[in-house]
Amino acid sequence: MQDFLLSNSQFQLNCNQALPDNQPCFWFLLHKDSIYLFENGEQLHVPHFLEPPIAANTIAYTRCIGTFGKSACMVLELNTSPDTHLVPVSLRESHAHIGSDFWTIAGRASQILRWKNDHKHCGRCGTEMEEEHSELIRKCPQCGFFTYPRISPAVIMSVIKDDAILLGRSPRFPNGMFSVLAGFVEAGETLEEAVAREVKEEVDIDICDIQYIGSQPWPFPHSLMVAFTARYAGGEIQVDGREIEDANWFTPADLPRLPTKISIARKLIDLWLEEHDR
Ligand SMILES: [Zn+2]
Repeated sequence: MQDFLLSNSQFQLNCNQALPDNQPCFWFLLHKDSIYLFENGEQLHVPHFLEPPIAANTIAYTRCIGTFGKSACMVLELNTSPDTHLVPVSLRESHAHIGSDFWTIAGRASQILRWKNDHKHCGRCGTEMEEEHSELIRKCPQCGFFTYPRISPAVIMSVIKDDAILLGRSPRFPNGMFSVLAGFVEAGETLEEAVAREVKEEVDIDICDIQYIGSQPWPFPHSLMVAFTARYAGGEIQVDGREIEDANWFTPADLPRLPTKISIARKLIDLWLEEHDR
């Protein structure tokens, strides 16, 4: 998982470093669940220009969200679907066009927009919030309440029993797809407790030997997936019928349809397959 955990991306969160004059920016144009990409021949790219490639009156919001190499990365929220040569692609599917580095930045852009739109008014007194420019904080000018972009930790775990892995199916999954189990961390709970609780709640299996593997921001809408491995310790599979409608032990020879390669779920399954082959 080493290369996955520490990307070699040139992306930096810091917007305040001095950049050369007249340097083009990367423009992350978002509207609803789509990112608008620039078509160059057969390929789609994140637009890289001095100015936003869009009419000023279609821009609802903009701010710098980091730098990539010598270029600022700017998020642009559009107030309408633009009538331009740019091509809308769903954020999930854009990975195939723009690759992991830019997909991760686009995910950050999407999370920041969601946070901004979910915190227009103070949750404590209702006053309109104001955004800081030096860092990502929205503050209430009336009562001083402030928020950072929301991040919701979720645990995701492979559970191994002999030469089989536990995979389950959520009713939300595409036909025939199974994946490792996952769930949100509750207030007051350790990550390891959340791992054990989710497996017990969803399929009634006891586990042991819970080991941290890695993490992945998952911007649908604002999760941080924290991945673990664990070993079977007891029990028979009994699905909860709500979060999980079917679950089973799968060996490498009889694997079902699996999640996409970009997800940490798939990386957990691939890691198990690699160790199994050793
Ligand atoms: Zn307030």
